[in-house]
Amino acid sequence: MNIILLGPPGAGKGTQAQRLVERHGMRQLSTGDMLRAAVKAGTPTGLEAKAVMERGELVSDAIVSALIGDELDAMGADTGAIFDGYPRTAAQAESLDAILSARGRKLDHVVELEVDEEALVERITGRFTCATCGKGYHDTFERPKVDGVCDKCGGTEFKRRPDDNAETVRTRLAEYRAKTAPILPIYEARGIVAKVDGMADMDHVTAAIEGALRT
Ligand code: AMP
Repeated sequence: MNIILLGPPGAGKGTQAQRLVERHGMRQLSTGDMLRAAVKAGTPTGLEAKAVMERGELVSDAIVSALIGDELDAMGADTGAIFDGYPRTAAQAESLDAILSARGRKLDHVVELEVDEEALVERITGRFTCATCGKGYHDTFERPKVDGVCDKCGGTEFKRRPDDNAETVRTRLAEYRAKTAPILPIYEARGIVAKVDGMADMDHVTAAIEGALRT
């Protein structure tokens, strides 16, 4: 099964993708994660993407589509893909169709996480992750049980994304509205979109997604 998790930054795409990975052995393909890894490694792609990401704007369609193609080639043909943060433009949506069909895959579901935009700034600016295992936390909604110690791995170092500040988040939300939200009708016309309330608590969101994938 190949699915897209669609929704603005902070909607919970990454969290829900990780849950699907754990439950179903699917693979999460997050272009944001791939780009952050490229920036960290200092690859040519990373060097090109760094400043664009810091401004909250979109990296070029060609770069992200190439990353997705390479990741798909590196995974087993039977492993399902969860596209998280891709596609983000009409051109990327078109590329994804070509990328999938060239590999004998098809898109089964697009899950749209519907959220209240006002809540997103607080969600995003408060989030941080364990630097060791990547577990996600939030200043207000999910602090570690013992301050400064990761619940999952005991790590004591945490990190925040440089683009998770209020100003950049506004740009990221504007990019979503202008370039990403308009691709929904493409998938609605194919009858493969399920809308899920992304403001519900995480377990309810997971259950709703699971339900949508069974239809
Ligand atoms: P994310 O982790 O999905 O929030 O992505 C972080 C940043 O990486 C975005 O604000 C963009 O600058 C860039 N990015 C991630 N995915 C894409 C994409 N599909 N198209 C263009 N830029 C992207």
